Amino acid sequence: MRAEFQKPRGTQDVLPPMSQKMEHMRRIALDCAQRFGYFLVETPVFEQTPVFLRVGESTDIVQHERYSFTDSGGVNLTLRPEGTAAVARAYVENGMYNQPQPVRMCYYGPMFRRERPQALRYRQHTQFGAELYGSVLPEADAEVILLACAVVEEVGLADPVIRMNSIGCSICRPRYREALIRYYNQRQGELCQDCQSRLKSNPLRLLDCKIDVDIRENAPDIEEFWCEDCSSHYKQLVDLLSSTGRTVVRDPFLVRGLDYYTRTVFEISHPSMGSQAALFGGGRYDGLATTLDGPESTPAVGFGMGIERMLSAVEEKFTISSQMRIYVAHLPGFEGRSLVLAEQLRREGFAAESDLLGRSLKAQLRDAGRRSQVVVIIGGQEWDKGEISVKWLQDGVQTTIKREQLGDWLREKRENS
Ligand SMILES: [Zn+2]
Ligand SMILES: [Zn+2]
Repeated sequence: MRAEFQKPRGTQDVLPPMSQKMEHMRRIALDCAQRFGYFLVETPVFEQTPVFLRVGESTDIVQHERYSFTDSGGVNLTLRPEGTAAVARAYVENGMYNQPQPVRMCYYGPMFRRERPQALRYRQHTQFGAELYGSVLPEADAEVILLACAVVEEVGLADPVIRMNSIGCSICRPRYREALIRYYNQRQGELCQDCQSRLKSNPLRLLDCKIDVDIRENAPDIEEFWCEDCSSHYKQLVDLLSSTGRTVVRDPFLVRGLDYYTRTVFEISHPSMGSQAALFGGGRYDGLATTLDGPESTPAVGFGMGIERMLSAVEEKFTISSQMRIYVAHLPGFEGRSLVLAEQLRREGFAAESDLLGRSLKAQLRDAGRRSQVVVIIGGQEWDKGEISVKWLQDGVQTTIKREQLGDWLREKRENS
């Protein structure tokens, strides 16, 4: 195939059985969300570019990794790189701040970033996220984090660990920012290239650097700069989460990549992944909706979970309990009838298929072995006597039953399989 006909670099075709796992994952996430009262909001996959520019001016996504284009009408559009900004836009535009608060929402769908291609970094990836609007209380942060943990557990990773920090508010953060700049200025010569520019644009992200880890060890800790409200918010949140039996660890270097966060930032990890490897994260962003022309004070907290990353973390543990599949095989001369019987079974709610290639019985049975748990064989003298053969492929036992018993026999197999 010519290169120009191949899929774009950094993207993937999701084929079975992976597509089934993805679908299963979606169901788990949305079921969990629903249990917590978070309902699906579907925004367009593209937004007017200023929506994303406004909420993340100094972030990598906005600077380098944006898929932006001008359409034939001259409008500058961007494929959404993440869900939070789009949901915030929808919350404001639809006047959801006039609804009874809090408003609980979730989203699920493709996100786009022009990342450097590497393992598990796709330029189109799938994200599930939850957003809670309208509460400033630590209970709100707690609920969102508990939902995040519930999904992780439901997927098969028991006892996730919550790594958490508070990056303060507009009162206490500027003082911390200054202290941080003062500290890093003294060591400017030792900093990596990226940190040189972070020092000017987004100094909190200096703590995030994977290279300059030694330098940050002696950096001032934001805990000592928290104002009273930030301090009590953080402590109450830790208490709440601990009371539900969750494991919370403070990580003073956790600041998160997006610069719209206020107070709470968190990452969920799991012991099976190594202590530092985060599965995903989130936080509080009370000022976000306001930057998109929302009301003056619009508290919000949420998280975004990369689905491909989650799936790779659970790997074999993640099994899809698929429906029992039935293959209707036929003896010569019964081609059409196997299709009709398969359709009858499907109408009764079974998963059934029949041969479409005019194959011999032997070839049909071989095919059935690849894709089904049960084979129903029709034709020959049995058929004349009103009987059919059924074979349970797991133990290879074949029996003959009356045709009218077929439904009951299959139902019993399905319940016991
Ligand atoms: Zn504060
Ligand atoms: Zn660095």
